[in-house]
Amino acid sequence: MQGKIDTLPRRWRRFSESARVLLRDPLAREAWWNNFLKELSYTHAQVRSLGRPQVFEIETTNRCPFACVMCPRTYAMTRPVGDMDIGLFRELIDQMHPAWQMDKPGGRPLVRLLHYGEPFVYRHFAESIQHCHRRGFQVLLSSNPAVWTEHRIQQALDTGVDEIMAMVDGMDDETSTAIRGSAAGYARAEANIRRLAELKVKRGSRSPYLVLAMIKQPRNAHQWELFTHYWKGIEGIDGTYLAHYSVFDGSIRDINRINDTLMKRDSSQAEQYARQLRLSRFPCYYPWHSVAVTWSGEVVPCCRDYNCTLVLGDLNRQSLHQIWNGSLIRHLRRAFIRGRRDNNLCRHCVEASLEIGLPGRHYAPASFLRRRGYGKMHQMGSSPGIDERSWSTPQNLSGGGYKRQAIPARQEEEEPVAV
Ligand code: SF4
Repeated sequence: MQGKIDTLPRRWRRFSESARVLLRDPLAREAWWNNFLKELSYTHAQVRSLGRPQVFEIETTNRCPFACVMCPRTYAMTRPVGDMDIGLFRELIDQMHPAWQMDKPGGRPLVRLLHYGEPFVYRHFAESIQHCHRRGFQVLLSSNPAVWTEHRIQQALDTGVDEIMAMVDGMDDETSTAIRGSAAGYARAEANIRRLAELKVKRGSRSPYLVLAMIKQPRNAHQWELFTHYWKGIEGIDGTYLAHYSVFDGSIRDINRINDTLMKRDSSQAEQYARQLRLSRFPCYYPWHSVAVTWSGEVVPCCRDYNCTLVLGDLNRQSLHQIWNGSLIRHLRRAFIRGRRDNNLCRHCVEASLEIGLPGRHYAPASFLRRRGYGKMHQMGSSPGIDERSWSTPQNLSGGGYKRQAIPARQEEEEPVAV
């Protein structure tokens, strides 16, 4: 009870902030309405989404010099390797709208140029970022700094990349290369991070917002604390983040094994995993929320589809809008509504809705309707074998995920990271 009372002022503050943004910003209103329609479609089990799609990730390239032990690409990616044609990239961006890329009122129209490759090696690096900016999008890149060159660092600054998440999985050569392979030398990575930060400060620029991230795993557990403290106070670096480990679609035994070992020593990872399982009780929200696009133009349901296992359409032949309510995605939604998750991509997945949460966090009317008992989706558990006692309400399981966890300095609510 006391907890509920404590959260009331915070909820009220959040509500009034959102209302203010909605009143003064037409783009925020459009985003709100679009997200509301998507939530409504999900909560009312509609196979046709009333809202417009968000493109959650765009894979500009799936080339990558690293061999990371926690990445499905290393073990099982068999699809061709290549770069997205710049014409196709432009066409895709032109079909998108900034409002559809905003998750909440006051949010940013963000495009994530990442998937299963290293974005800094994309042939049309600068051109792609410039095009996103021309169309009103902000750009986020996730990259391993060991691959940066002086030329790319300059381009990142010249084009004004809005945000870079630099992955630092070890604080020395031995740890870093054990996790990401021989190309991931630590000394080079640190020199590049310092160079980018230094040039950013020299230019007096606020972008890119530079966050260093370490994905927790047993191999780097002895360096979590060092990582958290080492970068403090360096001008130009905006934050550090110890990220939870992901098992992606859950189909790769080596990746799952690392998670099992990690959970034994890290309670926060174990809690995160338990939360994932609770979330997985509900039909995955991704097919109503967003899609991901690979370098070859294939559209897949989410960022776990490393091998184009569940292709929903091809942007070389169809528009984003045709794919969004096309027969393949409707088929997937229908299966989820019926509590079936037996397709080749989703059958082992324990990360349903993970980065995006379930509806009801920011859009009061949809969650109100659901709480009144009109919603249908939350009544359908779809992941067998999970303890009934671990059920939670969808409201409790909303949110979470990538943006909220990734950049502590910009978020209101942070989960404490137990080291
Ligand atoms: S169930 Fe898992 S693999 Fe399937 S769409 Fe959802 S997040 Fe992606």
